[in-house]
Amino acid sequence: MAIEQTFSILKPDATRRNLTGKINAKFEEAGLRIVAQKRIWMSRQHAKTFYAVHAARPFYNDLVDFMVSGPVVVQVLEGENAIALNREIMGATNPANAAPGTIRKEFAESIEANSVHGSDSAENAAVEIAYFFAGLDIVG
Ligand code: ADP
Ligand code: MG
Repeated sequence: MAIEQTFSILKPDATRRNLTGKINAKFEEAGLRIVAQKRIWMSRQHAKTFYAVHAARPFYNDLVDFMVSGPVVVQVLEGENAIALNREIMGATNPANAAPGTIRKEFAESIEANSVHGSDSAENAAVEIAYFFAGLDIVG
């Protein structure tokens, strides 16, 4: 295994319920380090571009509306096997299918308002990190 970086978002349902600390505690307890972080309110254009891979899906417009409905925390997580480990800590997309102890099982409101985003591959992690952070913003 190698040290990796992955991209994470604490979604508007998490900021609205003041859960950013509780969620980030899960990442830190599992050994991931937050090496870049900022709280932003995404523009509709940024959200559309970020989720462009889902543009043909029936939930795309609702997803974009949700992602711009409040502030989010965008962050870079670093650690051994960080991309897969982050996905494991997050749990399944649909909280109904998420394993006990995962963020989505404990905190998600619905399949859409599921509290966190995490990159699904090394390629996407690199693209997503670069979309929100400059190299100098990342402090390991
Ligand atoms: P993940 O976030 O687990 O990688 P996807 O990439 O498939 O999941 O979907 C991106 C986001 O779109 C999900 O996290 C969720 O917010 C939303 N989403 C996915 N599937 C649905 C669905 N069937 N209905 C509503 N929203 C969905
Ligand atoms: Mg995804």
